[in-house]
Order: sequence, then structure tokens, then C-alpha cells
Amino acid sequence: MQIPVLAYHKIDEPTSDIKLRGAFTSSKNFARQMRYLKRQNYKFYTASGLIDFYLENGAFPPRAITLTFDDGWKDNYTNAFPIMKELGIRATIFLVSSCIGKRSAKVVADGEGEREHLALEDILEMSEYGIEFGSHTLNHKLLHQVPDEEVEFEVTESKKEIENLLQKPCRVFAYPAGFCTAAAQNAVKRAGYVAAFSTVYGDRENVNLYALNRIEILRRNRFLFQFARTIKPLRS
Ligand SMILES: [Zn+2]
Repeated sequence: MQIPVLAYHKIDEPTSDIKLRGAFTSSKNFARQMRYLKRQNYKFYTASGLIDFYLENGAFPPRAITLTFDDGWKDNYTNAFPIMKELGIRATIFLVSSCIGKRSAKVVADGEGEREHLALEDILEMSEYGIEFGSHTLNHKLLHQVPDEEVEFEVTESKKEIENLLQKPCRVFAYPAGFCTAAAQNAVKRAGYVAAFSTVYGDRENVNLYALNRIEILRRNRFLFQFARTIKPLRS
């Protein structure tokens, strides 16, 4: 069963020094994809909204779609937010809380330079509009590689920080690079999140609210027909 959630990262053009380009979607292609989803009458839910519906009804709403963005890049504000506002779309962004307002190399691939994250004022403006902010840990630690106490700290501390900044509950979580071990799932549950998202490592057969799979939209989906094919499992 395919959970109706898409995973994006950077809405930008890769600069020439960047070798791993998969996580880049250009603004132009993002706009095309969003217009396509609107034309196809998808109804946009935040991650929490989608989960609340599931908890109440035991199924996901028909024609639902949830956009998520990992890592909290500045380009989500500069490039994606104007398009979302124009089309009246809401989404969920997963923040690495120690990176808010900073240029950082914590999240980039090996060998890449620092990249700018969302500033607090960007986050507050988007939150006011209705974008949801979830946690993507404190430091983007890959949770299968660190001791249990550190997993605990990464998931609880980031939740606290985000709630303090936004004065709203931080209800959803995304695992860095998708690694959702049993220990990580338990820590996320204990911390009080209602759901957590993976990518490739999520449960494909059952709905496990702490290992929800997402459809990654990568650069290879840059032509609209490829995007349409990628999201086709949602239309069954
Ligand atoms: Zn990430």
C-alpha cells in the first residue's frame, strides 16, 4: 500500500560543483508538478492532517496528497513557498533544529560545501500561512549509527526546540536518510510524535505509523510524464 506522501529535498538548480544531484528539483519543475496535482484534483493535507484523518477513519482520505520537504533548506522558502502560496497548497517541512538560521555542512553530501537553511523568520511566516514543521532530528545524525541515548536526545531535543520556536506542537518526524531502526521508532513514539516518515526503509506492506514510506521525488522525475508515472500508485 502506498502512503500518499511525497518527499522533496531542495527546490533549486544544482550548482556545478555538486555531484549528487538527485535531491534537486528546479522551481520550474516543482511548479509544473504542483499544477499537475491541482489539475488532477488532489487534495493537499499536512502530514499531521493526513495522520489525524487516518486515526479517525482507519484509512487515508481519497485523492489525498501530502508534500514533505526534508532538511529545512532556505530554498523551500525562496523557491517553493511562493508557488505553494499561489496555488493554495499546504505542506510539511522537517527541520534539523540545530541548523535553523545557519549555513551548515551537517546535512550536505560528502565533499559539498555549506548550504543555507531556513531562517527563523521564514519559518514563522510559513507557519502563519499553514505550513507544518516537523522534526528531522537535532543534528541530522543517522539514527542506526548512534547509541540509544543519543537517538533519544536527537528526537526529544529537536521536538522541544521546534515547539519553543513556533509555540505549536511538533507532531511528526522524518528519519535522516530514512533509517528507522526499532530503537529509533520507539524513541520517536516515546517522545510523543504521532507519526514518523522514512523513505526507502519504510514498511511497504502495512501501515506502521512510525515507519511510513514516502515517494521520493528526485531529479529523474523532472519531466512531467515521469512524475505522473511515479505517483501513479496513488490513484488506485
Ligand atoms: Zn535529511
